[in-house]
Amino acid sequence: MKITKVSVKDFRNIENIEINLCENANIIYGDNGQGKTNFLEALWMFTGAKSFRGVRDSELVRFGQDCASLGLSFYGAGRDQTAELMINGHRKASLNEIALRSPTELAGHFCAVVFSPAHLALVKSGPKEKRRFIDEAICQIKPKYIHILNQFNRVLDQRNRLLKEGPYGSHFQDMLEIWDARMASFSAVIIKTRDSFLKRMKPAAQEVYAGISQSREPLDFSYVSTLECNPEEEIPQIEETLRRQLKINRQEDIRARVTNGGPHRDDVEIQLDGKSARLYGSQGQQRSCVLALKLAECQMIYETIGEYPVILLDDVMSELDVSRRDYLLNHLRDRQIIMTCCDKAYFKRLGKGVSVKLQKGSVIYSRYY
Ligand code: ATP
Ligand code: MG
Repeated sequence: MKITKVSVKDFRNIENIEINLCENANIIYGDNGQGKTNFLEALWMFTGAKSFRGVRDSELVRFGQDCASLGLSFYGAGRDQTAELMINGHRKASLNEIALRSPTELAGHFCAVVFSPAHLALVKSGPKEKRRFIDEAICQIKPKYIHILNQFNRVLDQRNRLLKEGPYGSHFQDMLEIWDARMASFSAVIIKTRDSFLKRMKPAAQEVYAGISQSREPLDFSYVSTLECNPEEEIPQIEETLRRQLKINRQEDIRARVTNGGPHRDDVEIQLDGKSARLYGSQGQQRSCVLALKLAECQMIYETIGEYPVILLDDVMSELDVSRRDYLLNHLRDRQIIMTCCDKAYFKRLGKGVSVKLQKGSVIYSRYY
């Protein structure tokens, strides 16, 4: 998958720019606060996901404007394609000039993987970031998954609302029965999908980690479900187990007035040499873990759709030592990379490419080299 041209209007601090990209390395450089990450964020929006900075859509529109508009020309699935996105309070998308019902339908048509220093949170922080990583990655290769997540979230919301009200009304137990059945059904699909995704990406992640760390310590990770079940079983069996589990947890949930166990509380345990990477990993080891997970994600997309995603690297190179930097760039050869940095001197060795200098959200210099 390769982007050929992108236009960004009234998005964050970017007033109006149009940039032609090349199929190899594209470097977006400039001082701090000039709009480099904003530009990558604009590209990322075409995956159909929400911003990788975890903000609301309305925050993406340039101050004082009503609407941001983004346009993309890209080569994917063997042909030239276009996509448009309008963002005000909501997002409206079209693909090849056909309006989509929801921007999430862009998922699977345009794929990208983004690395930024903030992604260290994947290893350093709690389960929320890990769930988000895995859900976003699955959505790109299995776009229907987003509907399951949305339905699950709705049921969870309803169940929690009922629990907040308390067990006073006569309908309480009946309603709980209904929500539990629905929750078990969506949870079974989510748990199985997440677990098998992690298992499928593990060999690629372990290989990358071994390459970066010269095999000093083995990487391992696994899905940790807060509701006891065996994700290897078929979905109907998992669903049955989850229904029982929800029933067992019921008294505790009623007391706490919230749903304690379920895919919304699950975690991914990442281990190095058998020990938690979050608790015991060094900065460098944690960084390598994130690179390994992200590169494995690229590989999964390639194995599923037969094309590599566009790689967005936000200020990542300056954080890596020379050997990790070389490993990353070698691994990403023949793919389109769009990377940001403050100083383009880093990238003398990249060969052919495009460099663009941003200042106050405008292009002040661009060059093919
Ligand atoms: P750094 O090198 O520090 O990472 P950067 O070039 O990546 O900098 P960005 O994060 O892309 O910087 O841009 C930050 C700028 O965008 C800030 O000055 C911020 O005030 C501005 N900005 C963010 N949101 C909006 C918005 N909705 N409207 C206008 N400007 C915005
Ligand atoms: Mg930035």
